[in-house]
Amino acid sequence: MKQTVVLNLPPDKIRAMQQTYRSALKPKTPAYAVFSASVDGVTITAYQSGKVVFQGLNAEGIAKTWGTAEKKPAAAAKQSPLPKNFASWNVIGSDEVGNGSYFGPVVVCACYVTKEQMPLLKELGVKDSKELSDSSIRSIASDLVHVVPYQELIVTPEKYNQIQPEYNVNRMKVALHNQAIHLLLNKIAPVKPDAILIDQFTPEANYRNYLKKEKHPVTDNLYFATKGEQYHLSVAAASIICRTRFLEALDTAGSELGFTVPSGAGKQSDLTAARILKRGGTALLGRYAKLHFANTEKAKKLLPGSGY
Ligand code: MG
Repeated sequence: MKQTVVLNLPPDKIRAMQQTYRSALKPKTPAYAVFSASVDGVTITAYQSGKVVFQGLNAEGIAKTWGTAEKKPAAAAKQSPLPKNFASWNVIGSDEVGNGSYFGPVVVCACYVTKEQMPLLKELGVKDSKELSDSSIRSIASDLVHVVPYQELIVTPEKYNQIQPEYNVNRMKVALHNQAIHLLLNKIAPVKPDAILIDQFTPEANYRNYLKKEKHPVTDNLYFATKGEQYHLSVAAASIICRTRFLEALDTAGSELGFTVPSGAGKQSDLTAARILKRGGTALLGRYAKLHFANTEKAKKLLPGSGY
């Protein structure tokens, strides 16, 4: 019988596991996964949260070598985090983009989508932005902004670098999601949504803890789901607007600098950062990049003999 075993493991064990299975790693990993591997017919997926899922005929046998399982993982994994028929409720959904990219802003957007608007949104092509090309995303967003009430907030890299030492990433995200939702609730008042769905980036308890630090905390009717865009079009719409603003900001950066500014945080980002450092040092780089990323140090090493 096919088995599913879930372990909660510390980061060093997950790294050791990744090393052990390095020849069996899958090229693609699900969202928030550290790695995914296929070992003797068992699929092993380790998540950033520390959760490691073993699935397959001998899942127990392999999992046993790494730790002791939680109780009843299969039942827990299947449960939808949201009430029945949630997809047809009138919902404010919020999402953010840019947090994992070295260049560009962090953009958060909240959108209000009613049941009546859903056919139109589907007609416009609103769906999970991971299934859409950047150019479709931009063109859908250009219609969407005339159709749904929304509130976007953009944290430029300059601003991000100012607040990042004080606000850790999750606190910053909570502040932004909350502020966008708060402003959107004011915009649509006296109408009230049935629910507010946040594309989940931290456990609910953490979100609510950071909320206590906010001036206008929105605490009622909150729901959380990872991959929120699969549960409600409002999150998909928010995600499309966020992504568009983020791409536009990279375009602007590119035209100011005279060369393409990449998204992501890979090798290309290091090279581009080195180019910017050469032209204007950290002061110039800090206008375009999130300086605390490891890319900054990597870029400095790419500059031979300079002061960096
Ligand atoms: Mg998200």
